[in-house]
Amino acid sequence: MLTLETSIEFLKGIGPERAKFIKNVLGLSTVEDFLTFYPLRYIDKSKIHKVGDLTEDADAEIQLKGRITEIQEVGYGQGKKRMTAKFRDASGTLELVWFRYSKWMKEQIPSNQEIFIFGKINYFNGSYSMAHPEIEIDEKKALSGTLMPIYPGSEKLAKRGLNNKFFQTVLADIVKNLPSIIQENLPDALMKKLKIIGRMHAFYHIHFPKDLAHFDHASRRLKFEEAFFFQLGYGLKKQHHKASVPGNPFPKVGVNFKSFYDHFLPFELTNAQKRVLKEIRTDMKKPVQMNRLLQGDVGSGKTMVALLSMLIALDNGFQSCIMAPTEILSQQHFNSIQELLENTDIKVRLLTGSTKKAARKIIHDELLSGELSILVGTHAVLEDIVKFKNLGLAIIDEQHRFGVAQRARLWAKNRIPPHILVMTATPIPRTLAMSFYSDLDVSVIDEMPVGRKAIITAHRREKDRLYVFRFAKEEIEKGRQIYFVYPLIEESETLDYKNLLENFGHIVEFFEGKNVTMLHGRMKPDEKEVAMQYFASGKSEIMVATTVIEVGVNVPNASVMIIESAERFGLSQLHQLRGRVGRGAEQSYCILMTSDKLTKESRTRIKTMTETNDGFKISEVDMQLRGPGDISGTQQSGVVDFKKLDLRTDGKIIKAAKNAVEHLLKSDPHLEQPENGDLRNYYSKQYKGKNKWSRIS
Ligand code: ADP
Ligand code: MG
Repeated sequence: MLTLETSIEFLKGIGPERAKFIKNVLGLSTVEDFLTFYPLRYIDKSKIHKVGDLTEDADAEIQLKGRITEIQEVGYGQGKKRMTAKFRDASGTLELVWFRYSKWMKEQIPSNQEIFIFGKINYFNGSYSMAHPEIEIDEKKALSGTLMPIYPGSEKLAKRGLNNKFFQTVLADIVKNLPSIIQENLPDALMKKLKIIGRMHAFYHIHFPKDLAHFDHASRRLKFEEAFFFQLGYGLKKQHHKASVPGNPFPKVGVNFKSFYDHFLPFELTNAQKRVLKEIRTDMKKPVQMNRLLQGDVGSGKTMVALLSMLIALDNGFQSCIMAPTEILSQQHFNSIQELLENTDIKVRLLTGSTKKAARKIIHDELLSGELSILVGTHAVLEDIVKFKNLGLAIIDEQHRFGVAQRARLWAKNRIPPHILVMTATPIPRTLAMSFYSDLDVSVIDEMPVGRKAIITAHRREKDRLYVFRFAKEEIEKGRQIYFVYPLIEESETLDYKNLLENFGHIVEFFEGKNVTMLHGRMKPDEKEVAMQYFASGKSEIMVATTVIEVGVNVPNASVMIIESAERFGLSQLHQLRGRVGRGAEQSYCILMTSDKLTKESRTRIKTMTETNDGFKISEVDMQLRGPGDISGTQQSGVVDFKKLDLRTDGKIIKAAKNAVEHLLKSDPHLEQPENGDLRNYYSKQYKGKNKWSRIS
């Protein structure tokens, strides 16, 4: 008897030899593998196309209705002949060609009568043709054709007889057995509610859809199932985390928070900041470790949310730390936090790789005694020697630069692990966030502080350079500062450096009398620091840099960002870079310099940048262009291993699955109800342990 585990070797027409070959080429070895080897596309014979509607890129097999006329044999080459004919419908004419044919065939061709032809359309030199069309006289037969599955194949496979026909035949055999091999895995009530068809029918109609509607239902069901069990995995893990990882409850908001909020807050919080703060506060009240991701576009004001959260920790008698991926960033956090807390007696210190030994010693001592309330730093904070009296909250800025292992070291810093807040300015498309971060609670700052002027972004080419430089000069005359950013060519650091130096020279020459600072990856941390400070303090008007300045750097007076060879940057990187300007009260500009020749993709990237400042929109386009696998971090997390689900287009289904899982876990957290039995069995057999989830801390 056939089961899902049966080796394909035992299927009709396969045998051990072919089974081995199929396994090697396609990685399929069981009946289940074959069932989930889904067709790439389907041929639709239910539809009749018109010659007049054909388009150049119509590289498809289609059906047309019309008449064949002018059948003739044309000689070519050494006595070879081919047969041609015209095919006409009311909208136009198409050429038919036969390279191989017999006299008998020629006589059989029904000319001058209404018939149907089916085949692949070729476009060449302004005209369309079809070679070896299938011809059907009977209208009923022509239109009865269901959607015919076309499987992903290759020449290599076809040569061994493993062509489309083969897959169709094997799958036709398999689907005959569906009733005995496929068990439902979703509860009845859920399927009814969401109008999801049964599992068995889904497998049937994904391979042999009766019509488009059946295909749609089958496809939706299989996608939903994938999304559902994926979410269930994360949901169960999250639930387990909440039940088993204790946290220090911060029940109160006290004097530190209140007096800062009332007296020293330099601006009114945006509604989004308030909402997010409330979410964090609600989490931290509980005796359960918080694991929250704070997403907010560049400039949305995440630092203030971080600071206020740390003040709550302090009010409850706990220390906090905030870490950034680079020296420059942690220095900036330190500066701004220290400035904000200037009139309080809250102690803040900075710890980085370049902190001197004596200063380190003081930090270590003050951390242990509890005298130090807030530690700002880089990875240096993670070192084992850095011990806290009672670390209650750890904040990680720009999360994607920290590895999982490093984050894990934070846990060890307190007996009861600290609450974790991860902040990122890399907007993640909604569908990805729903999947990728399903084990985290997510807060989003989706609103910019008021009074911010939208950055004006323009695309310029080499021929406009003089104009661009003059514009930059004018802005400098108005008192602004500007950035020039050059791409990194990773293969050759030396070339990069040379490139940067050369351009640096040109800029110094053109902007004679101005101070030009340079920042690049080859500089030592303290050199970078000096350069950055020099620019930040306004002593230098121009910063020429590689992407080192990408994340977080804050110089409000800098209002022009000129990105050279902008076509070489990815969308999210361009957006991050642009976020360096638009931080002050002045109108800011981002100028994307490119060469004249652009690929279609880089044109889309540049155009997107000039059209929107919205990081979430940009991340959506980015995902459409590059696919979800290339969005930072998703590959290793296994989010993109879906067979049917497409994160780019299936947002609705993912959302529905997420809701369904939330509902399920609320009503039956341990999947103990009898109506969830099938689901539980399926999950523990198929999915348990398969989610390559990455714990955030
Ligand atoms: P990011 O989210 O990119 O880390 P920052 O926290 O650096 O953003 O904030 C960007 C700038 O906006 C800072 O200069 C900060 O002082 C300012 N800012 C933050 N929140 C507000 C607000 N509610 N109103 C006005 N300015 C704000
Ligand atoms: Mg920031």
